[in-house]
Amino acid sequence: MYPQLFTFWCAIVFVFGCCIGSFLNVCIWRVPRGMSVVSPPSHCPKCGHEITPLENIPLLSWIFLRGRCRSCREPITIRYFLVELVTGLLFALIFLKTAASGEPLTLLIPCFIMTAILICSAFTDCELGIIPDEFTYLGMAGGILSALLFPSAWHLESRITAFLLSLGSLAAAGGLMALCAVAGRKIFRREALGWGDVKFIAAAGALTGLPGALFSVVAGSLAGLLAAPFLRLIPKYRKRRTLRFGPFLAFGMLLWIFFGKELVGMYLRILN
Ligand SMILES: [Zn+2]
Repeated sequence: MYPQLFTFWCAIVFVFGCCIGSFLNVCIWRVPRGMSVVSPPSHCPKCGHEITPLENIPLLSWIFLRGRCRSCREPITIRYFLVELVTGLLFALIFLKTAASGEPLTLLIPCFIMTAILICSAFTDCELGIIPDEFTYLGMAGGILSALLFPSAWHLESRITAFLLSLGSLAAAGGLMALCAVAGRKIFRREALGWGDVKFIAAAGALTGLPGALFSVVAGSLAGLLAAPFLRLIPKYRKRRTLRFGPFLAFGMLLWIFFGKELVGMYLRILN
């Protein structure tokens, strides 16, 4: 592909990602609170001012309004800006990596769904300590359906084989994590691993395969272990008995999406 055309497509994917991020913001706020994501239209929680299309342009509106409601000047959390930016950047980087490495572009579909699910899960887990079923079930359905429609993302020609591989990865990853959750509960006599985390890993299996799901558990656990002593320095986190695992699983999954193949290759070279 010509460099100019490549840059053009990267920019298009970035803008597309920012728009998806704008919708993820709605999901992050409304889904864990049991609210519909379509109605009522977005409004300021303080004065009820309905957000106009012009005030809803990803990234730009937040900057031009200087992070405040246009009607009552109530501050709008920077999360809105961050989620849009992070989604846009991740989508563009995934596109860049996939195109540059000559992978089939159909791989973008499960990767984009996975990215959307992990962003939503990381934020709701961080904020409220839950990963809503709506996110994880959607990830599972998205994984199985995209395998059936685009088997080339799994480097397969047969739709049925890709479908079965995705379904099998879901069951294996979810089953293993469920076993860990039950064993953890028996050993530590409290919830060591939440069911939201179990379902997140099952969805990761359906979207990226069993190796990706297991890698994100191992990398996420290591990152959690490393981060725990530092989190204890923050007063808000000091009193919590358990670590919220969602953001670390999300981090592990991102590592897999960007560097999974290289890391596994390195590991195998060391073993040999
Ligand atoms: Zn307002």
